[in-house]
Amino acid sequence: MIIAIDGPAGSGKSSTAKAVAQKLGFQHIDTGAMYRVITLKALRQHVSFRDEAKMGSLTQNTKIEFDGFIPNVKVIMDGEDVSKEIRSDDVTKNVSDYCAIKIVRELLVEQQRNIAKGKNSVAEGRDMASVVFPDAELKIFMTANVETRAKRRQKDFEKLGVKKTIEELSAEIEARDKKDSSRKNSPLCKTEDSIEIDTSNLSFEEQTQKIIGLAKKKI
Ligand code: C5P
Repeated sequence: MIIAIDGPAGSGKSSTAKAVAQKLGFQHIDTGAMYRVITLKALRQHVSFRDEAKMGSLTQNTKIEFDGFIPNVKVIMDGEDVSKEIRSDDVTKNVSDYCAIKIVRELLVEQQRNIAKGKNSVAEGRDMASVVFPDAELKIFMTANVETRAKRRQKDFEKLGVKKTIEELSAEIEARDKKDSSRKNSPLCKTEDSIEIDTSNLSFEEQTQKIIGLAKKKI
């Protein structure tokens, strides 16, 4: 069974997807982490997102692995643990440009489908329901208002020792939303068969239980 969870940054998608996967005994597929790995490698190698040919070969020659168990899954790029670095400000600011490249998406979508093959999975990203797993048994679209999302991001950044104001974060979130929703290749969108959950006024436990309840009805 596949549970597809899509939504914008800060909607509560990642932490909820992890908790749902853990409680149901499913694997968690963090597709955002995969786009972040490719962005990190491109930044390190000074490859521009405009250079599609180089980005294609860079993606093809990058090994992305997930190691360990929820909540301590490490993201490994070519044998190196990059779990922390892929969440850096630099990667976060640039990922929307790199993930819009057609060939990058094609190669990563193929990997995402392979990871899910034959396994119960909670797949989380922007195009899970629309492109990667159109036949998913359960499709969830998580949202939250910008202020709530900015507050959540502020907490995430605090853990990394980075201080940012709510105004700054709201502007960044809106800019990333705009790019993710308006891009030509697989934009962030809610499919007709997705169930929308607005998490602005829900506790973490409430949003997790809501999805688990919906999943149990399908099992
Ligand atoms: O979910 P996370 O914030 O880690 O995703 C990082 C970025 O990767 C998003 O802003 C989005 O641009 C991109 N992404 C995507 N498609 C996915 C998952 C993430 O385009 N399936």
